[in-house]
Amino acid sequence: MNTKNNFPLAVIGTVAIDGIETPFGKRERAFGGSASYFSYAASFFTPVSLVAVVGNDFPSEFRKILEERPIDLSHLERSSGKTFFWRGKYEFDLNTAHTLETELNVLTDFSPKLHFETPPEFLFLANIDPVLQEKVLDQAGKPKACFVACDTMNFWIERKRKELLRVLARVDAIVINDGEARQLAEEPNLIRAAQKIHSWGPAQVIIKKGEHGVLVFAGGRFFALPAYPLETLFDPTGAGDSFAGAMMGYLAKTQDLGFENLKRAVALGAVVASFTVEDFSLDRLRRLDLRQIEERLEIFRRICSF
Ligand code: AMP
Repeated sequence: MNTKNNFPLAVIGTVAIDGIETPFGKRERAFGGSASYFSYAASFFTPVSLVAVVGNDFPSEFRKILEERPIDLSHLERSSGKTFFWRGKYEFDLNTAHTLETELNVLTDFSPKLHFETPPEFLFLANIDPVLQEKVLDQAGKPKACFVACDTMNFWIERKRKELLRVLARVDAIVINDGEARQLAEEPNLIRAAQKIHSWGPAQVIIKKGEHGVLVFAGGRFFALPAYPLETLFDPTGAGDSFAGAMMGYLAKTQDLGFENLKRAVALGAVVASFTVEDFSLDRLRRLDLRQIEERLEIFRRICSF
């Protein structure tokens, strides 16, 4: 592996403006997007390059938030039109996001053109149109990258299933919600759903179950973790993306794809996600440092060992 690359990890996904409503409050234009949460979380472990598009309404304060961290923005395009907008609402139990509005806006005509000097070894195809995931795979996927993972959601499973299955055939891992794993596999049992998704390509299937934790299927082996037990849960938006960001960031930092290291990466993903949900948008991540992550990881380790 080439360790000289300044940006060993890259992500394509959405950089968005979100309208969020939870039982605890409302934000009309919050900073969000799958790639925003992913890259901010990953940057605690490794520098990361972000591939995305925003419109000319994208606030400069939001860009400055990404600039706080070692996040390469040379592939963050600005195009005329409006930024991707998502409006979501959470009920009292905060477990499921209900999409009220999705405006693709500048995403519709986006065609990412990558110009890495050294291609990233770790690549994450965050939640976005599978056609765009495929375009990035064509330019930076295997054999250039050594590890490629993806995410998706109901919006794309319903609209772009054929394209999504083509992406799945080309990735090493998928990180996906339980509901979406069932929907994608058309199979209510999670174990069978994971096996079916695995048979379509990804060697590792990582299923996030919100407050119920995470299940990992890799090379015929299983690993399960609960979610970190939290008293203050404010806004679940971005939990999945920060989970994936911390997990991939740690894998890229350690350059170790063995099962034991994957377990540590997944635990760090769960810990970083537990911080994200303590406040709106990226607010809690912005007040986070590695020491707090390590402290919570240690408590989590004690809770999980027996
Ligand atoms: P999650 O980690 O699943 O809570 O992801 C939340 C983020 O996903 C929000 O900040 C949204 O902007 C973004 N999002 C919502 N719908 C979509 C979609 N259809 N494609 C890509 N990103 C989306």
